[in-house]
Amino acid sequence: MSDKIDFIDLKTQQQKIYPSLMNRIQRVLEHGQYIMGPEIKELEEKLAAYVGVKHAVTCSSGTDALLMPLMAYGVGPGDAIFTSPFTFIATAEVIQILGATPVFVDIDPRTFNMNPELLAQAIANLAKNPGTAHLKPKGVMPVDLFGQPADYDQINAIARQHGLFVLEDAAQSFGATYKGRKACSLADCAATSFFPAKPLGCYGDGGVVFTDSAELADTLRSIRVHGKGKDKYDNIRIGLNGRMDTLQAAIVLAKMEVFAQEVIDRQKVAERYSRLLQDIVKVPFVAPECTSVWAQYSVLSDRKAQLQQKLKDAGVPTAVYYPLPLHLQGAFAHLGCQPGDFPVSEESSRLIFSLPMHPYLSDTIQDRIISAFKG
Ligand SMILES: *Cc1c(COP(=O)(O)O)cnc(C)c1O
Repeated sequence: MSDKIDFIDLKTQQQKIYPSLMNRIQRVLEHGQYIMGPEIKELEEKLAAYVGVKHAVTCSSGTDALLMPLMAYGVGPGDAIFTSPFTFIATAEVIQILGATPVFVDIDPRTFNMNPELLAQAIANLAKNPGTAHLKPKGVMPVDLFGQPADYDQINAIARQHGLFVLEDAAQSFGATYKGRKACSLADCAATSFFPAKPLGCYGDGGVVFTDSAELADTLRSIRVHGKGKDKYDNIRIGLNGRMDTLQAAIVLAKMEVFAQEVIDRQKVAERYSRLLQDIVKVPFVAPECTSVWAQYSVLSDRKAQLQQKLKDAGVPTAVYYPLPLHLQGAFAHLGCQPGDFPVSEESSRLIFSLPMHPYLSDTIQDRIISAFKG
């Protein structure tokens, strides 16, 4: 009986950073500022510097990091927000929470990210379609799926033509690059998540919004604390209890010490997978202008069920992101979408599955995974 293989290994990382982690946690226990303690400011400064934007506003989750900018832009009923149907529910959920309407745009079959040509078409079709003619186009939310940025030069140009804001869902792509620029800096604003399984995670929930706009950052800081004005008891708008815990910020700070190396190691693991699996499955495509941070290593195969079973029999865990595109989810049934509306997303859902992926995956374990495909 061989050792169990982890889909994501957080233990090895913890052992590696243990002294620093404990030191950071202990400092929080000593100063006792559990809400908005000094670690929050320290983390926001480090994150903004890493990404290369002026403002980072931490918050309680990746979902709130998507919700807060939409609130700041005043998104509400009658607004259309263009996004991908091939993503985690949170991306479109935050649009719906505010009473606005998600308008889905199908993906590029190679990158799984929003297809810019189809975005232009969807904007043009909005007024022509009787079902959506009453909606006002307001914003675009591309997703950097599996850790690879979407095509922002094209998406931003289309958005600018129509006066739309662009919010980058970078929940999976913190640490990736597009044309030499860091993910989270590629649009008007960006949201990422510190959910434990993300490339940079904490030990609970957390998130952050990035923007170069001082005005937007101020509004986000107000929304984060119940719409505060001068202070918490001066309420100038409706907001949230949307703060990140000081303890979680301390944990992200400890993890940032090894993050740059982890990105390199993730890329090595992915490159080795692709080299050794290219004759067996369709391996991921990374656009020449991008680097991926490999939140997931996802392959396509028309023998998916059979391969997943073989891997399972050999003790190799796999997962499917995403088994059902959002336009076919019950939560969005009111939009009236049908199977066949977004064929690339639907076909990707049918063929895709993801392999164990983390920076501490050894060649030995990876060889076991690869031989399980052949077994
Ligand atoms: C994880 C994720 C989110 C939500 O982040 P949470 O921190 O879990 O709220 C949003 N969008 C995408 C694409 C994600 O992968």
